[in-house]
Amino acid sequence: MSADQLSTTNYQLFSDYHTHPQGHRVQRYTSGLLQPWIDSATKFGLTDIAFTDHDRYHAGVDFDEIDRLRERNPQLRVRAGIELDNDPIHSEAGRKWVEKHWAKLDFVLGSVHFLSRADQMFDSVPAGAEQFEGHDVDAIYADYFRRVREMAATGLVDCLAHLDLVKIHGHRPRSEIGPIVNETLDFIRARDLAIELSTAGWRKPVNELYPGDRIIELAIEKGIPFTIASDAHSQVQLGDSYPRLAQKMAAYGIRRVGIYDKHQRVLRNVCVESVL
Ligand SMILES: [Zn+2]
Ligand SMILES: [Zn+2]
Repeated sequence: MSADQLSTTNYQLFSDYHTHPQGHRVQRYTSGLLQPWIDSATKFGLTDIAFTDHDRYHAGVDFDEIDRLRERNPQLRVRAGIELDNDPIHSEAGRKWVEKHWAKLDFVLGSVHFLSRADQMFDSVPAGAEQFEGHDVDAIYADYFRRVREMAATGLVDCLAHLDLVKIHGHRPRSEIGPIVNETLDFIRARDLAIELSTAGWRKPVNELYPGDRIIELAIEKGIPFTIASDAHSQVQLGDSYPRLAQKMAAYGIRRVGIYDKHQRVLRNVCVESVL
């Protein structure tokens, strides 16, 4: 066994802070909908998960049902969350819902899924790729990260999701990513927000973790904390590719991840010291 393999065996990635129990439609929170997620999380060795359905499905979220779920499953921390989008049609209502329920929410993800077209998420696969065809990719990147800063500036989010989602279909800027994201990372740091390490990118055409290596390096330099997440749309995706994520974290020396209780972040160690 190599030194690298040995070090990753010491990682215990116990949290998943981006999950979608409702999937892609409104489904009222019930024990029948949520308990399978707890059972699956337990099976995969997770002890702290956040439900972060899209804000356009906020009607399905039931805080009392989450409380009952917590009572039935004391072995696992369940965080009430939402993924707040920049959806030009639905997210105004989403922002109001987040404001109204802020005190009940543990964790809010901020996401940019819309560019100039209001009728299509650019990250729909494969259809969203057409938004890039014939356009200046550098300009799209600049526009995307401007929208990320807008989301960070709402004051309604704890963490930015899939920070470089704009790469999803494999379009890359002509120049280095560092100068393109620097301002956005400084903005995130100044507001004391976190970013997520999301394994969802490995399931997409780009086949790369969100965010990419250079952004991870810059985030570490700037002292931006990370959450870890699968963006599961089914309970079987919870903790997806976590062994591979542990390798990446070991390579960068990332030993702590953020967990949230009523928007208060605590950094917890995920690296168990080896006795070998
Ligand atoms: Zn998203
Ligand atoms: Zn999501």
